[in-house]
Amino acid sequence: MNEFDLIREYFNWPSTDSNIVVGVGDDAAVVNVATSQQLVTSTDTLIEGVHFSSQVGPRDIAHKALAVNLSDIAAMGGRAKYFTLALSLPKIDEHWLGEFSSSMKQLAERFKISLVGGDTTKGPLSITINVIGTLEIGSALQRSGASPGDGVYVSNTIGSAAYAWWQLNNNQKPSKGNLEKLNRPIPRLELGRALNGIASACIDVSDGLEQDLGHILDCSNVGAIIELADLPLDEELSDYVKRTSDYSIALCGGDDYELCFSVPKRQREWLLKRLQEIDIRITQIGEITKSLGLEIKGYSNNSSSYQHFR
Ligand code: ADP
Ligand code: MG
Repeated sequence: MNEFDLIREYFNWPSTDSNIVVGVGDDAAVVNVATSQQLVTSTDTLIEGVHFSSQVGPRDIAHKALAVNLSDIAAMGGRAKYFTLALSLPKIDEHWLGEFSSSMKQLAERFKISLVGGDTTKGPLSITINVIGTLEIGSALQRSGASPGDGVYVSNTIGSAAYAWWQLNNNQKPSKGNLEKLNRPIPRLELGRALNGIASACIDVSDGLEQDLGHILDCSNVGAIIELADLPLDEELSDYVKRTSDYSIALCGGDDYELCFSVPKRQREWLLKRLQEIDIRITQIGEITKSLGLEIKGYSNNSSSYQHFR
């Protein structure tokens, strides 16, 4: 199988998006863009041995590579539309490619995003995806918009993916749900859309809550107070915290791909109304403050807060 057969076989899915004028197969892709819209685009690379181990299977790798890219579009409040896939493969393994391609296609179909091009080379396993989305002009949720008094929120639970990772590295068995959170994160695109026009700032939690919320605070030139007791932890991590008083996984563990965002008080009701239409839990964990820095309230005296991830 040569490079062109490989592309035709595994990466040339039919698309129903009528805005694609030229897709896979030419020198570059061409898509129509409405004049009322802006493009929003982002790239992320996953490299074997750096971002995932050789133990991780092709379905998980494909899912995660696309999901983390979609998550960036979600964090901007955008609609994900197209992506390109630059794949470096050590060899042509058809079984591996079949699994990889079908998993990526599944996620792409779920979020109605089309693969419009890419590049295929021989080399160490690495996956680079460039995702392109659209936004109404001027509506992007940036990191820089938070103001004192805004509520600070996160979606779903935090620390679940990192706790699964920690368990895997400590000879413990993660729950099925948490393993899924680690290997198959769900990009919060619906939530990002719902926050459009409501949130004042937004980021996806990829490196840990403390660090990622810190980016919002730095970019917005504000601070925040959050309460440890308000952090939405899943049952397993919550038990662990009760036993150990160790909040490092919850605060500093990455890979959640949940959204962390700020919402002005006057928008709170709108937020709750919009959330009725989508199936996601959000939790207020604190408030934006004028004084700089992140204050974390609620450590117990024996807290061994950050031991693992700092
Ligand atoms: P070029 O030499 O112009 O870069 P290529 O031979 O690399 O073209 O690619 C041929 C076509 O296949 C292009 O349209 C490219 O976008 C697409 N393509 C290459 N690799 C992939 C891939 N892994 N996934 C999707 N499309 C791909
Ligand atoms: Mg090429």
